[in-house]
Amino acid sequence: MKNLKLVAARPDCQRSVINVQGIEVGKDLVVIAGPCSVETERQTIETAVAVKRAGANMLRGGAFKPRTSPYAFQGLGLKGLKILDKAKKETGLPIVTEVVDTRDVSWVGEYADVLQIGARNMQNFSLLREVGKSGKPILLKRGMYSTLEEWLNCAEYILAEGNPNVILCERGIRTFETYTRNTLDLSMVPAVHHESHLPIIIDPSHGTGIREMIEPMSLAALMAGADGLEIEVHIDPPNALSDKEQQLTFQQFEDLMVKLRKARAFILGLGSADAPIASESEGKGTRAGKGKTARAGEEPHPFSDAVD
Ligand code: PEP
Ligand code: MN
Repeated sequence: MKNLKLVAARPDCQRSVINVQGIEVGKDLVVIAGPCSVETERQTIETAVAVKRAGANMLRGGAFKPRTSPYAFQGLGLKGLKILDKAKKETGLPIVTEVVDTRDVSWVGEYADVLQIGARNMQNFSLLREVGKSGKPILLKRGMYSTLEEWLNCAEYILAEGNPNVILCERGIRTFETYTRNTLDLSMVPAVHHESHLPIIIDPSHGTGIREMIEPMSLAALMAGADGLEIEVHIDPPNALSDKEQQLTFQQFEDLMVKLRKARAFILGLGSADAPIASESEGKGTRAGKGKTARAGEEPHPFSDAVD
């Protein structure tokens, strides 16, 4: 691909690891979970506590919501950011939240540990430049009509401003299929890993728009080699103010985390002596055999218990 000076895969195949408050994206599976929108303090904090208990690594929640209709709930703005801040103090989970306007980047950055650029703003080049200058880790969602090359060029805008901390997020694209909200393009996981050193996570919530499909697509994403997942979880999905069809209940999220742990143990098991093909690649930079246990003094990674 042309003109990818900073984003293209490195000759030595070294992948970038993005550090978010000690959580290393690109090293081990990272799960970002939380409500589509911050609605109330109770809804957000109870969700934060539940996803933390289930093993999530970061809390997501929108305070600025890019909605199709101008009359739909637009988010709580600053009030929402303050609620996220409380949830962070309560749980210790770093905050992932969307920024939609260049004028908001610096002050939203005071509350966010990761600034999310939504699908609808992927090619908002002035916003990309602004978040590039912020130095904050950026979660760059794929535009719903964008090619891989266009998406990677948008990441290039951010890196070109001196910010190397970009996490890509596949969230589904528009195709002729209307059964699902979008068509989740899991082929982007190996494609991004082939073309770029940046980590890629999968958002099966917006990718399918259907609650029952979140679990199978999350497991498929893990098997495809995704570096993480972003999943919407709500205290009372049928009454959510946005995306009520695709948010998991606390119980569903907890069950999913159990299955993800088992699936990850299965993947790591491929590196054992009775699986000769995968064990050949052990220690050569593949996922197999990586980061099995926490170092002394560190909190164990929520998935690490599955391998010991
Ligand atoms: C979101 O994650 O809250 C969101 C609006 O997603 P997307 O930009 O992918 O539609
Ligand atoms: Mn949503």
